[in-house]
Amino acid sequence: MTIQENVPLAPLTTLQVGGAARYFAELKQEDEVRQAVQFAKTRGLPLFVLGGGSNLVVADSGWPGLVLRIAIDGITTPPTPDTRGNAVLFSVGAGVSWDGFVAQAVVQNCAGIECLSGIPGSVGGTPVQNVGAYGQEVAETIESVRAFDLQEDRIVVLPNPACGFRYRSSIFNSTELGRYIILRVNYRLKRGGAPSLKYADLQKHFTERPPKAKKPSLAETREAVCEIRRRKGMLIVSGDDDCRSAGSFFKNPVLSDEQFKEMAGRAASKRLEIPSYPALDAQRKVSAAWLVENSGFSKGYVAGAAGISHKHALALINRGDAHARDIVELKEKIQRDVREAWGILLEPEPVFVGF
Ligand SMILES: Cc1cc2nc3c(=O)[nH]c(=O)nc-3n(C[C@H](O)[C@H](O)[C@H](O)COP(=O)(O)OP(=O)(O)OC[C@H]3O[C@@H](n4cnc5c(N)ncnc54)[C@H](O)[C@@H]3O)c2cc1C
Repeated sequence: MTIQENVPLAPLTTLQVGGAARYFAELKQEDEVRQAVQFAKTRGLPLFVLGGGSNLVVADSGWPGLVLRIAIDGITTPPTPDTRGNAVLFSVGAGVSWDGFVAQAVVQNCAGIECLSGIPGSVGGTPVQNVGAYGQEVAETIESVRAFDLQEDRIVVLPNPACGFRYRSSIFNSTELGRYIILRVNYRLKRGGAPSLKYADLQKHFTERPPKAKKPSLAETREAVCEIRRRKGMLIVSGDDDCRSAGSFFKNPVLSDEQFKEMAGRAASKRLEIPSYPALDAQRKVSAAWLVENSGFSKGYVAGAAGISHKHALALINRGDAHARDIVELKEKIQRDVREAWGILLEPEPVFVGF
């Protein structure tokens, strides 16, 4: 294990802002994780665990302690397959590219994560905010998570119910924040399973097929998801400035009946209608993108070196040479204006590091 010093973090994130890590180590083996933790403990250094850097805003002052970049590799399936319901178990290293794993699962005709195609980041990052898109979330397929428990100083295996998965949340980013370093994630997929086509955008994509055409395959579903994501700037494409983001910057707010009534009243007074999306309505969520766009911000909005993507109202972007403070200022302005217009505080989705 090599410990480097003063390593710039911006290039290791998709938003590409922020300062350096005082100490930095890239870890490929579980043993190295233990050693690195020991290094930090003996020096009293705060730890930050970095995956693919696709959900982060790193402070301009960087990280004062040790950043551990988890690069544990490998996708394995057990020698004795679990044949219940054609289930296939995959044990995947936390450092594996998430989309690489999705591609491999689809090639092996295994269903369960095809709608999560094109999401950047590492496998180890997926349980943290219970990654989801187009009607699927990893909570549905994660069997267990293997992690280093910093509190008990040992490796543990957390079965799915122990992970406390909810919308964009798990114990890893809430009640047990900072306690676990995820080493491997075990997914249970379904060989020969049908693709999930719950989401309106996806259904629409396939409506142009001839009526007697076969149902879309997993591979076609993956392709469709990537195409839809590309159009929304939610697929990392080199040379596309709208991709210099951390994905959706705000969560869709979950409203109580009272809050919804108040919002509907405000909409009526502005002669606006709150759009209805079955996938959101079912969970009592409203579209954060709609709130942003109806509070004075449009796609392509410019705020100095920061801005909003031309393709997606929820993606705050680094227009080229932004600092973290530019992104934070824009985030705060959006939160302020949405609150004034709608009485709702938008909660950011990315993780703020070193603030
Ligand atoms: C263009 C774009 C599109 C996106 N689309 C979606 C989407 O559709 N749905 C969605 O849910 N998300 C989306 N995201 C957000 C992001 O891709 C996911 O949250 C992703 O899972 C983050 O993984 P990561 O490896 O990049 O984690 P990082 O950004 O490196 O870290 C995020 C958090 O996870 C923690 N973490 C990472 N790895 C580990 C580990 N091994 N052990 C413990 N903690 C760890 C970090 O400490 C941090 O708190 C998008 C982002 C971008 C840039």
